[in-house]
Amino acid sequence: MNEFEEDYKELVDAFGATIKEYTNYNFICYNNKIEREHRLKMELYLDRKLNKDEIIHHINLDKRDNNINNLIILRRSKHRNVHGSLTKIGLNFCKLLYDKGYIFFDEFKEIYKIRDKKYIEKNLFLRF
Ligand SMILES: [Zn+2]
Repeated sequence: MNEFEEDYKELVDAFGATIKEYTNYNFICYNNKIEREHRLKMELYLDRKLNKDEIIHHINLDKRDNNINNLIILRRSKHRNVHGSLTKIGLNFCKLLYDKGYIFFDEFKEIYKIRDKKYIEKNLFLRF
């Protein structure tokens, strides 16, 4: 744990705050206030309020990993680009999975699906 994380933990303990896991994010509750932990933590780290154009991105993509080293501030438009880059990687990866037969297009439901484990074990082996 780095110095900031230690200070943060002390602060949380001192406030009697609790960290709750709602939705995909951790929320921190104290004095009848509920805040998104990643934003609060960055504000404490910077010692200023974040504005609405400043989005906190979780570098390792785990929205509950609010270690300060995992958080980065991005302008809203830049944050969109970052997620756009993931979409692009995701699509390329899905193309690979499709080509290898791991996913298929279900024409009845009009969605992509992952083939069941038995089919994969019987017919395919993971080789990229
Ligand atoms: Zn993000």
